[in-house]
Amino acid sequence: MAASVIFLGAPGAGKGTQAQILRQEFGYHQISTGDLLRENIKRGTPTGKVAERFMKRGELVPDEVIVAMVRDALPADRAKPVIFDGFPRTIPQAQALDAMLKEQGHNLPRVVSFCIDLREAGERMLVRGREDDAAETIKRRFEVFEEHKREIETYYNNPSSGRFVEIDASQPVEAVTRQLLRALELVAP
Ligand code: AMP
Repeated sequence: MAASVIFLGAPGAGKGTQAQILRQEFGYHQISTGDLLRENIKRGTPTGKVAERFMKRGELVPDEVIVAMVRDALPADRAKPVIFDGFPRTIPQAQALDAMLKEQGHNLPRVVSFCIDLREAGERMLVRGREDDAAETIKRRFEVFEEHKREIETYYNNPSSGRFVEIDASQPVEAVTRQLLRALELVAP
């Protein structure tokens, strides 16, 4: 059974695209907090109403809201490996995830960091053209990413854990998938 995996990386690094590939090809359950929030906004739920105010400005949605949403999204089949895409983004979220996984008897997740030049990621986002991808919001989202990047990477890049891998996310989709599959040991090196 494959281990669950956390995708870290800037907005526009291609985490969502790769998560979708792993879900379709390898049966992972995908939890993308950005997608879940956008669904909540569309459905007009209380979570969506709170989240919208923060997302419009490119700020992080409060940890309690995110953690409750992720808890609800965990698969009923506890043996199913999960891809966490865009979560955790803060230390309290990482701690909450550790506790949730432990509670459910999961092994430690793998952590894959998608490395990309921020200018290149910004260009990808402009091409993608999502509603919260307006130029000013993108700028703030990158600032927020930079503010939290070091602490979250330090949290996971622990030499004794051996579960942290960096991949070059600037490459074309297929090449990133190949790196990812090797990193997750889903194919031979
Ligand atoms: P994403 O699609 O992952 O880039 O997320 C879009 C927006 O949703 C972010 O700019 C945040 O406002 C919000 N968001 C997504 N995931 C999180 C998270 N783990 N913690 C806080 N806010 C989040």
